[in-house]
Amino acid sequence: MKIKGIARDTLNFILEVSKFMAPQEFAGLLQEKNGIITEVLLLPGTESSNTNAVLKLYMMPNIKAVGSVHSHPGLNRSPSQADRRLFSKTGNYHIIVGRPYDTQSWTCYDRGGKIIELPVLDVKFEGYGDF
Ligand code: ZN
Repeated sequence: MKIKGIARDTLNFILEVSKFMAPQEFAGLLQEKNGIITEVLLLPGTESSNTNAVLKLYMMPNIKAVGSVHSHPGLNRSPSQADRRLFSKTGNYHIIVGRPYDTQSWTCYDRGGKIIELPVLDVKFEGYGDF
């Protein structure tokens, strides 16, 4: 599945949750509709830990996802070893959000940990088929 981009509303939601959760990490799986990332499947039990959000994604049931998203507590948005292992495991679009959790403070990586462009799209949810 070729991904055209992420819906602006979805990205804003990710940034808001990341900010709300900080300094704890937030993690979730990305799901697409018609080639656009519009859904974030939040990791259950995110309130319980501040360091292993990514590791917990491994324990998610086998859900179809185009990638993952998680936040870092600081400015560094480089993927850790654990991040890279997760990237190679599920999907090809992996967003890492860092402080200050604004529209500039996120980076998308492919499954190999290489930075990729992910366009932010203004999607009209109404009248868009079966959203
Ligand atoms: Zn990470």
